[in-house]
Amino acid sequence: MSPSDQRLAAAIEQWFPLNARDLPWRNPRTPWRALVSELMLQQTQVSRVLERFEPFMDRFATPCSLASADEQDVLAMWQGLGYYRRARSLHRAAREIVDRFDGEVPIDAVSLCSLPGVGRYTAGSIASIVGGAREAIVDGNVMRLLARVHCDGASPTDRVFIKRVWSWAQNLVDICEQPPLLNEGMMELGATVCTPTLPSCDKCPLAALCQSRLQGRVSEIPPPKRSAARQELHHYAVVIKRRGKVLLEQRAATGLWAGMWQAPAIESQTILSESEVIKRLPFPLQSLRIQKVMQRTLTHRNVTLHIYSGSLKRGARVPATMGVKWVPVGGLADVPISNAGHAVLAADNS
Ligand code: SF4
Repeated sequence: MSPSDQRLAAAIEQWFPLNARDLPWRNPRTPWRALVSELMLQQTQVSRVLERFEPFMDRFATPCSLASADEQDVLAMWQGLGYYRRARSLHRAAREIVDRFDGEVPIDAVSLCSLPGVGRYTAGSIASIVGGAREAIVDGNVMRLLARVHCDGASPTDRVFIKRVWSWAQNLVDICEQPPLLNEGMMELGATVCTPTLPSCDKCPLAALCQSRLQGRVSEIPPPKRSAARQELHHYAVVIKRRGKVLLEQRAATGLWAGMWQAPAIESQTILSESEVIKRLPFPLQSLRIQKVMQRTLTHRNVTLHIYSGSLKRGARVPATMGVKWVPVGGLADVPISNAGHAVLAADNS
């Protein structure tokens, strides 16, 4: 813990209560309203969610009321928000809340993460902001804010950088006085002050601590997105099955296939050997067998999918952490997986 971290956390905690926007899901704040708003806000602007939130809550005031609704009704109430997969996930989550949690939304991150459509960010957000837990939250706004505060010009899609930001965020939440104020304050600062273009540094409570401002490098962070030239990306995916289930990991909340689930994978701009793939994966692997190599052309990338089947070392356990789970092979349709992710899983013949 450094003195500047403490000053940073304190400045955010003091700033937020005085500057918080009056958003409907903040008043009253309940776990159910938080869960609905978080799912609505994924990939959708606040202004659009503001139009749809209260009508949805009027119709589905509790998890029970949503759980008992017909899916068509749920989708109808979701109109205007797009990305209907989220509506279906919320519907299934409501049913699980009724079945497994007596109709009460859990507020611990691990239970939240076990619900459909709820990833590390959403679980941490509810656990922290509603439950007061010391869980870090990193969304695009927090990432930009902390990158600027630390004057870190790495690409927001760089996985090492993303880990670094999560670790900064966890450090702050560990030392702060009130995790809900700290976390929501960081998100609010990123959304309203430390905006992507023309941040309002003159109004920022972190101005005296912000390294990119002190070094005159605010405009460089985050770095501009790559232009039209397509990046070559090698995606090494390992399909690991055990007793009728397949191991999935969740991608980061930003970047390519944001928040989607996939067979555990590593990505590289260069070709890797099998031994490098084994070394870099966070699971102890017994074997690796190539199944297929496929090409995918995305807007900004040419992706080569190297698809392997793999088996864990005897006795190896996958830690029950957030962001990793075993899914029944027959249940993959219920998990948000990109088209490429489905292609990877379908290509495995093991
Ligand atoms: S001083 Fe400017 S760049 Fe730094 S955190 Fe505040 S708004 Fe962002």
